[in-house]
Amino acid sequence: MREIVSQLTIEEKAGLVSGASFWTTRPVERLGIPSVTMTDGPHGVRLQLASADHLGLNASEAATSFPTACATGSSWDPALLTEMGRALAAEARALGVDILLGPGVNIKRSPLCGRNFEYFSEDPFHSGVLGAAIVQGLEGGGVGASVKHFAANNQETDRMRVDVDVDERTLREIYFPAFERVIAEAKPSTVMCSYNKVNGTHASQNRWLLTDVLRGDWDYDGYVVSDWGAVVDPVAAVAAGLDLEMPSTGERSTRAIVAAVRAGVLDETALDTAVARVLTVHERLVASRTNNCRADLDAHHALARRIAVDSAVLLSNDGDILPLSPTDGGTIAVIGEFARTPRYQGAGSSHINPTRLDDALTAIREASSRDVQFAAGFSFDAEEDDTALHDEAVALAGDSAVVVAFLGLPPSEESEGFDRSHLNLPKTQRVLLEQILRVNSNVVVVLSNGGVVTLDGIAGVVPGILEMWLAGQASGSAAAEILFGAEPGGRLSETIPAALSHTPAFTNWPGENGVVRYGEGLYVGYRWYDKTDRDVQYPFGYGLSYASFEYTDLTVNVPESTAAYATADITLRNTSNRAGSEVVQVYVGDEASSVDRPNRELKGFTKVRLEAGEQRTIRIELDERAFAYWGTDGWTVEPGEFTISAGPHSRDLPLIETITLNVPTQAAALDRDSTLDEWLAHPVGAPVLTSALSSMGDAADALTNEEALPLFGSMPLRTILSFAEQASPTTFTADDALTALLAHTQPS
Ligand code: BGC
Repeated sequence: MREIVSQLTIEEKAGLVSGASFWTTRPVERLGIPSVTMTDGPHGVRLQLASADHLGLNASEAATSFPTACATGSSWDPALLTEMGRALAAEARALGVDILLGPGVNIKRSPLCGRNFEYFSEDPFHSGVLGAAIVQGLEGGGVGASVKHFAANNQETDRMRVDVDVDERTLREIYFPAFERVIAEAKPSTVMCSYNKVNGTHASQNRWLLTDVLRGDWDYDGYVVSDWGAVVDPVAAVAAGLDLEMPSTGERSTRAIVAAVRAGVLDETALDTAVARVLTVHERLVASRTNNCRADLDAHHALARRIAVDSAVLLSNDGDILPLSPTDGGTIAVIGEFARTPRYQGAGSSHINPTRLDDALTAIREASSRDVQFAAGFSFDAEEDDTALHDEAVALAGDSAVVVAFLGLPPSEESEGFDRSHLNLPKTQRVLLEQILRVNSNVVVVLSNGGVVTLDGIAGVVPGILEMWLAGQASGSAAAEILFGAEPGGRLSETIPAALSHTPAFTNWPGENGVVRYGEGLYVGYRWYDKTDRDVQYPFGYGLSYASFEYTDLTVNVPESTAAYATADITLRNTSNRAGSEVVQVYVGDEASSVDRPNRELKGFTKVRLEAGEQRTIRIELDERAFAYWGTDGWTVEPGEFTISAGPHSRDLPLIETITLNVPTQAAALDRDSTLDEWLAHPVGAPVLTSALSSMGDAADALTNEEALPLFGSMPLRTILSFAEQASPTTFTADDALTALLAHTQPS
């Protein structure tokens, strides 16, 4: 690649790091360098052949609208995500697209984020596993992925400017790991930087993010593309490690880059590096282009439906109200505009023009020989008075055997570009449901929403609750399938809180004066609710099945206690008389840590399908990272006890084992500021200090006896030594004594 780069003029090189159009890069015909095409993403191919935009406004070619990430995240099924990635790759290739802009692996910091529908989870391990899986499908199908938005893009409010004020440990443990895992396991062709600032500097020109972390710590060898319009200063961006600015800014950026190189402001080697990275990736993607490829759109529709079924979360099924009989039982009242006008995808850049669209009402009628009646019940436009619609629906409910109420968030309530201001369903729907329950308690609520909604008046009241999410173009038929007996395979990848005021970022959202402070630190999602001992409406990981399971045995094996690695064998039995799937989840807690840590964190999971009565032992591996926290010297595992717990969700972990790791202590280096406690806890420093103190006799004892230590322990040793110097100035100086002690703690 260096050979080609050396043949390019500065102008050509500057052109290769700034787009040609909205969706394409510049060719250099004299050297046979082709243009490549990229487009959104992430759950369908949005190829625009006429007017282009990045907000989902103008027309695009028809493509399969797969379930969005809030749904696929709930599948907890990496194999399914890989299959979806393969299908997306086939459609992208058929439409001539080289790079699909996705997946989004940002963490759901607050349920208010208007774009949560495009993200997998509130948990970094979960997001990383599913993100890596879909990228493997895309890249395996010869299409480049763009894992986005790096980094800390967790709100839509002021997203192009807001400065995220966040500590490094929180970035490393919560906001980075999904990116890190996708890069390590799936080698995405590109990473997309976010719009926002991170600790004062726009991500697009943040050297620490784009070079130190991405290249230095994670060895990333693809290229970094800007989010659309995220580049503020194209010269600073190249210098910081951004490789491609999108979309094109005409000649503005190229001119600025050329001028900067000529003036010696931008090192030409930085430009060469960016060009080489872009061309290396493009060479590979262009080589994998295939002629005359066609995507099997029927098969993809069926796949979209299967994924939707496997991602739907059954939140409640009191009295086994579900599944419904397709043949017996009297009239089914299908109520709610969503049954006839499905809400199946979010708005903004991910908006897909679907190849077809299944609505639940038609699908229910097709799947059942029962009398099926419909009433819209409410309108999407909350301004309207829905009294007449309510009355009609309540009359129908009163005359029916069962009510299936399709509720959810109307399109106007959530989108890319803005955040939500509350977590409620629209009032018209809540009023309607209350009225229905007065005439018929046999109700199933089917929900369509991207971000979670609180379910006051529904949870614990309505016997059947099925969360479908924004489940793609086959969501209607998928819902019907589940209502009549298909297994809903999803589990929550986001907590449903009891109230907005309970949520972790509540007092730090969405920031002020251009800054949002991540004051809750590591305590995002279930980490927060568990640490603060809050009740939630439905916990992370939760979801029912039509089958039932029993967790009978957990064996944790630590092959060598000096290494942080363990295997957890969990025995699971299907105690029902039907086949079903279960997501076995494993959480790790550090029992005695020198730093503050969450009570327990998800570190392994697997989705298993068991036949009626079948029993199986599942093995989950826990690697070093499963036990580590980000300390002052990087990833750190402390020796001591860890609990390994397993079960069906974060608040139901019936199996628990404690293990002891005798890993070497990675004590922070001692320095001139270290306290007496830190010296006495340090494996090398403690004996050095103790032996020095022993020569001081009673004076030393006065410092370290049981009563004194709590008083002196938090004092820097230099302060204690300087007191000693005052007491006997002629015998020693504090400075020399400290220097001598520190010298004995340095590795030889
Ligand atoms: C979004 C990206 C998207 C890009 C191109 C931006 O506004 O944040 O996710 O890939 O537009 O449409």
